[in-house]
Amino acid sequence: MEKLTIVVPAFNEEAVLNRTLQKLQKIENELIHSEILDYSSDILIVDDGSIDHTWEIIKKFHKENQQFKGIRLSRNFGHQNALIAGLSSAVISADLVVTIDADLQDDPMVINKMLNYFANGADIVYGVRNNRASDTWFKRTSAVVFYKILNLIGVKLIPNHADFRLMSKRAIKTFLQYKERNIFIRGIIPLLGFKSAKVYYRRTPRLAGKSKYPLKKMLAFAWDGITSFSIVPVRLILFLGLLACSLGVFMFFYTIINNWLGLTVHGWSSLMISIWILGGLQMISLGIIGEYIGKTMLEVKQRPRYTIQQHLK
Ligand code: UDP
Ligand code: MG
Repeated sequence: MEKLTIVVPAFNEEAVLNRTLQKLQKIENELIHSEILDYSSDILIVDDGSIDHTWEIIKKFHKENQQFKGIRLSRNFGHQNALIAGLSSAVISADLVVTIDADLQDDPMVINKMLNYFANGADIVYGVRNNRASDTWFKRTSAVVFYKILNLIGVKLIPNHADFRLMSKRAIKTFLQYKERNIFIRGIIPLLGFKSAKVYYRRTPRLAGKSKYPLKKMLAFAWDGITSFSIVPVRLILFLGLLACSLGVFMFFYTIINNWLGLTVHGWSSLMISIWILGGLQMISLGIIGEYIGKTMLEVKQRPRYTIQQHLK
């Protein structure tokens, strides 16, 4: 039987952690008793530099029951890095991992369904929320706009999927080969390949406590998502430069004609032409330099070039 580790990132979650851990334990134990999971299955909480009692709660649970494991990061490294810390540690002994937020906005009851897909050969099972009614209007709209923009510039995301997912050992190992520092996990998972599936659930409001993603963090996260995966914004500069230059050529004829017709003030024609052509040329040069910087960015990530799924020897 397979060993599952549930990885829970937690940053100042003292308000919900007790309830969350009890609930996750109950669900995991039921799966162990129905012999779906190995009895060594556990729950790993990653304390992402909390300054409240989160770590004390984790210690208490661990002391009472070794099924609870804990990692404490030395400071706040952010949700994504906390997840990576958890995955890196869990992958050593677990056969599969489910990552879930500490606020239980994602329904842990669907873990059972995820396991069904896993048993049928899926290496990655995405938790997808089928309603966002529990989010604020602002969060819903900004999310839609964000997905649209990312799609437009070629980053393929699973819509309405956050970081609630099941991953097999080999999927995690492959994921950990993506060495980039500016990590946007949900953009990378679809790049891994392997067989995947989706389970749907209703996203509920936070059990307690406040969102740890204020607008500032959300914007930074979105910006990371865009700039870590795509050099389309740089190409946009190149495109604008070409556009300005073509306008410059148009202005060239326009001013010359105006000049002939005697409709211009002295000096106007040469000024207009130089503004457009020079401006355009500058943008083109920026775009070309940007293209090289963009290529360098993709290169320094040292992403794996391929992943072997099976090897017949
Ligand atoms: N989190 C974290 N480090 C951070 C911010 C958040 O580990 O710097 C955790 C948080 O404890 C929670 C999860 O990431 O388990 C998602 O955060 P939150 O629920 O606040 O985000 P939201 O659901 O509002 O987008
Ligand atoms: Mg949340």
